[in-house]
Amino acid sequence: MSPRSISILGATGSVGASTLDLIAREPGRWRVIALTANSNAEQLARLAKQFRPEIAVLADESKLTELRDLLAGTGIACAGGEAALIEAASRPADLTLSAIVGCAGLAPTMAAIEQGGTVALANKESLVSAGEVLTRAVAKHGATLLPTDSEHNAIFQCLAGNDMTQVRKITLTASGGPFREWSFEQMQAARPEQALKHPNWSMGDKITIDSATMMNKGLELIEAHHLFPVGLERLAIIIHPQSVVHSMVEYRDGSTLAQLGPADMRVPIASCLAWPQRMDTPCEPLDLARLGSLSFELPDEERFPATRLARQAAEAGGAIPAVLNAANEVAVAAFLGGRIGFTRIADHVEATLSCYAPPAPACLADVLAVDAEARHKARSLTEIASLA
Ligand code: NDP
Repeated sequence: MSPRSISILGATGSVGASTLDLIAREPGRWRVIALTANSNAEQLARLAKQFRPEIAVLADESKLTELRDLLAGTGIACAGGEAALIEAASRPADLTLSAIVGCAGLAPTMAAIEQGGTVALANKESLVSAGEVLTRAVAKHGATLLPTDSEHNAIFQCLAGNDMTQVRKITLTASGGPFREWSFEQMQAARPEQALKHPNWSMGDKITIDSATMMNKGLELIEAHHLFPVGLERLAIIIHPQSVVHSMVEYRDGSTLAQLGPADMRVPIASCLAWPQRMDTPCEPLDLARLGSLSFELPDEERFPATRLARQAAEAGGAIPAVLNAANEVAVAAFLGGRIGFTRIADHVEATLSCYAPPAPACLADVLAVDAEARHKARSLTEIASLA
């Protein structure tokens, strides 16, 4: 069997590491085209030496000399900057894994889609910000999107072989994060190191904070709205603290299909790498008898308003989800930087949404312009707050 080619955008991150772990277990099965990162030259060079891509790319051009020095004599090409990242993403590959964090992943994801290939999408922010623009591009270029986020991958699996018009409800499960049982007053004083302690998943910082605020589930609701267009009113969220059921699809006859698995991203990533087949993973199989019981509860939007904001943004459509996403990225960075309190993250998103409502974007450039302006407005709000 000839090797399949793959590019990994965001190779030095948590999803990138899980993907490369699986690839390393199948020597000779994969040929790596491009590995990319933002600024972590050392880690990217280490991965490049191990996986021998055609090219290693850093978005942060100021680190390119360091990368070149580290890869000198290996024969692996190096490049830096936004244009180089997009060029790498547009190189033909059997599969491109989109795992950059934030809206920074949007333009490279679009470049991969425009090749008409298969894109495994972990970078949820790109679909949130550019839902219509991105899904139109997928249809126009005949690309295939494989949902890699565990919930969307679960839904994708539960929908396989079924007719989407027969779906009554799609339910996204949420762990509830580290503050599920905290009062609002306790959360007001929450520190970044507490919010970064996810009970079940090991992930990058930004998505871990999003899980603590529940904005992650809000972003996933918008993501699901674009990936599985059954109508927003048919999308629900339920808290499931054990993170064993990754999401569910209920059909009109009353049957509910769920996907279960360990809380390990290598399971949904493997489903994308092998799709439409299956592959082995090193993950521990589920031991339901040892788990004993699974529990479910309704989300509390008083303490966690982010899911309400995301649903409203999805209902408004157009540019509003891009504003929500940009404001959230800015507010999360401000919280991690110690400039605003934890509960102010949602406040800042809401405040940005109430002062900026641009028209619907028609193309990628429009989405990027909305994103930039929303960030500017959100930053002004966080700066004012940090001075208060
Ligand atoms: P990480 O923070 O661990 O990794 C992010 C990756 O993106 C790194 O390779 C980083 O490079 C790169 N990067 C960061 N900023 C830029 C930029 N401006 N330009 C180009 N590259 C950049 O994130 P995760 O792996 O946790 O998450 C990646 C995406 O997958 C997110 O959208 C997240 O929501 C989604 N996701 C993650 C899950 C998880 O389990 N982690 C689960 C489901 C979805 P560098 O190392 O140099 O900073």
